[in-house]
Parts: sequence; C-alpha cells; structure tokens
Amino acid sequence: MAGAVGSPVGWDADPVVAASARRPPLTERLSADVCVIGLGGSGLAAVEEARRRGLSVIGLDAGRVGAGAAGRNGGFLLGGPAIALGQAAAAWGRPAALELYAATLAELDALAESLGPQIVRRVGSIRLAGLPGEPADAAEEADRAVELADCQAQERLLRANGIAVEGYHGPLGRGLYLPDDAAMNPARRVLAMAACCERGGHGAVLFEDSAMTSLQPGLVRTAGGSVAAGLVVIAVDGRLELVLPELAGRVRTARLQMLAAEPTVTAAAGGWRLPCPVYGRWGYDYAQQDPSGRLFVGGGRDQFAAAEWTPEREPSRPVQGWIERVAARFAGQPVRVTHRWAASVGFTPDARALVTMPRPGVVACGGYNGTGNLIGPLAARAALALGLDGTEPPPYFNRL
Ligand SMILES: Cc1cc2nc3c(=O)[nH]c(=O)nc-3n(C[C@H](O)[C@H](O)[C@H](O)COP(=O)(O)OP(=O)(O)OC[C@H]3O[C@@H](n4cnc5c(N)ncnc54)[C@H](O)[C@@H]3O)c2cc1C
Repeated sequence: MAGAVGSPVGWDADPVVAASARRPPLTERLSADVCVIGLGGSGLAAVEEARRRGLSVIGLDAGRVGAGAAGRNGGFLLGGPAIALGQAAAAWGRPAALELYAATLAELDALAESLGPQIVRRVGSIRLAGLPGEPADAAEEADRAVELADCQAQERLLRANGIAVEGYHGPLGRGLYLPDDAAMNPARRVLAMAACCERGGHGAVLFEDSAMTSLQPGLVRTAGGSVAAGLVVIAVDGRLELVLPELAGRVRTARLQMLAAEPTVTAAAGGWRLPCPVYGRWGYDYAQQDPSGRLFVGGGRDQFAAAEWTPEREPSRPVQGWIERVAARFAGQPVRVTHRWAASVGFTPDARALVTMPRPGVVACGGYNGTGNLIGPLAARAALALGLDGTEPPPYFNRL
C-alpha cells in the first residue's frame, strides 16, 4: 500500500515538531507531591494544574510527549460532548450535557489564549450530511437525506440553547457550520503545552521513554528509576484498562486510523478546498487541510468495527483503503498518500468520560469516546481535584 513512508505520523513532518528535542528518561529515585502518568493533552493539563497549585510535579511518558492519540489525532477542537447534544441530554440529563458543552468552549478559549493563533486556528468546523461529491448509490443518497434532517434538528437544538451555529450549503455539500470550533496540528499543541509546564523556576519535570512498570501505594516504578508521590494521576485514554485492569468493563480500547496526503492542486477562491475541519457521514469520517494544503483524513472505524476493538496501534489495510477513498471525496480528486498511522482511544458505555479513584492515592481519567482534545484536559483537572480535595467530578463525568 502506498504511503507508508518516513515518520508514520503525518503531523510530525511539521518543521516545529520535527525539530523538537527529546527529554531524557528517568534514571534515579525522585519524589514529588504529584506524579502524572501519560503526557498527552490530558496529563499535561493535570501537570499544569498541579503546578498552578504550587505543588511539585513529575510527569512520565512511555514514549515522547504526545506519543499517544493526543499527538496523532484529527486535530479537531470541537465544542460539546462526544455524542450529539440531544443524545447526551437524553442519557445524562439536559443540564449536564449543556454544562459540558459550555466547559469545552471555555477550555477552547483558554487553549487559544495560551497557545496562540499559530497553534489554535479558530476557523470553525463543518458537519456535513454524508460526504462531499455525488452519492455512490441509492443507499448513500437515502442516508444523506436522513442525515441532513438530523443536521437541521441539531441546528434547531443548538440555536435554542444559545450555541452559535449556521446552516452550511456550499461546495462540499449541505450541513452545519459551527463557528466557535477550531483546528490544530495536535503534535504541536502537546509540545507547546509541555513547554508551558516546564517554564519558570518551579516548572514540572517531565521524563520521556519512561513507562510505568509497577504502581504501589505512593510509588511509581519505571525500568530506570522510581517516583514517590502523594498522588498518582493516570491520564491515559486508550489502553487504560491495560494500565489499570480493574477498569476493564468501564472503558474499552478501540483503534482509530488516519492518513496524510500531499497538497491537492485545487484551491477554492480565497483558500483551500476545506476551509476548516469537516466531518461527515454521522461524524465517522473527517478531514482537515492545514495551511500548507496537506490533507489529514481519518475514519472508517464503523465499517470494520469488530476488528477495530483492539489495543493494536498499527494501521490496517481495510480501514486505510476506506480512508483513502474518503480522502478523494474530501479532496474532490485522487490523493497521494504520504503517511498512514493509528492510535488507541477509550470508549465508555454511556459516552461519559471516566474520572475515578481506583486505588487509594491513585486517580485516573480516560474514555473520551474519540473526542478527547478538550474533554481530556477537563477530565484530568477533575481527577486532580478528586485526588487532592475529594471534590466530586461534574455529572458529565462517570466517577463510579
Ligand atoms: C486517529 C484519531 C483521531 C482523533 N481525532 C480527534 C479529534 O479530531 N478531536 C478530538 O477531540 N479527539 C480526537 N481523537 C481522540 C483524542 O486524540 C484522544 O481522546 C485524546 O488525545 C486523549 O489524550 P490523552 O492525553 O488523554 O491520552 P493519550 O494521548 O492516549 O496519552 C496517553 C499517554 O500515556 C502514555 N502511557 C501509556 N501507558 C503508559 C505507562 N505505562 N507509563 C507511562 N506512560 C504511559 C502514552 O505513551 C501516551 O503518550 C482522535 C483519536 C485518534 C486516535
């Protein structure tokens, strides 16, 4: 299959990411008030919050900063729950669903403020009914009509609740435009977050290539050293039930896959073909085009669902074949694939993320149901508050 070249993760080809220095592994016995396991967007938010409280913090990652889904995802920064607002309201109660919506938008504002427009591009997002281009068959045409009605219902619901939304009818098809949303290169985002955490005389100390190999009360061990800490925060989304086996059944790992493709030659007047992140076909397929015109496209998990409930992190041929066809629909022409990759995420039975204390002195967060770029940091801060102060997480998280 073409495109399995160079670094497997397309975002890493960005010059800023490619030039970033690695941090050394842990090689000694250290102690801190808080030890955070997992340095994705969630773990780094916990590091930053602990630091803000004046606590000493050590962060450990099995790979580099953003080695997991946080550095490998679609780069969509979307307000709201992982499931549609109406579904979330039915499952968790309307106040909880709306509270989460407001919290994610506030999180996005704060992220944009701290990282700036070079990293967080406030371009909005488009939810399409179906995929761009002519439907391949009658079934696709019928599904698109049903989805368009759903988009219109969503538009009414968002409007009724004061959330900014517009109808979209343009070159890509029909659907919704959500002006508050944003796009990013996710690898750049986590590297910038890590740099913020380390800044200043009392910065956190972060170690890469330092997998936690055992966890005892107050003590984390790695192959090269150990950290004694009053509180351990496990901020791992996918594969969480492998790190904490007692969470099996409450969170389940799935693989999500993406590819990157060379810039396509057709730019719409005033910009590239995709003006902002676009997701279609009930959100299963998604694409964004970065400022250089490169395409980043993912999806297809529902098409091969049984095989994708797996902790494996290698891309698979069937899903990649699907995504390549989807990429051509988003691009409006065949694409030249440069990178293919996959990463793990956690799903929960009721689509609420876990914020829980599975053992004394240990809190964990994860299970963002495929949408953790904003919900993950909220969950990680709620986990820290649970561990340090005993504060109950908000009702849009699952504590038990
Ligand atoms: C292909 C794909 C597309 C996605 N698209 C989007 C999107 O557009 N928008 C969105 O909001 N969400 C998206 N998601 C989901 C989102 O990426 C995740 O929910 C989010 O990044 C999770 O971040 P995290 O920091 O909680 O966990 P992770 O990023 O999974 O980080 C966990 C970290 O823990 C480390 N780790 C694991 N075990 C250990 C151990 N034993 N010791 C030390 N470290 C350990 C890992 O190396 C990893 O760096 C997507 C996910 C994927 C895979």
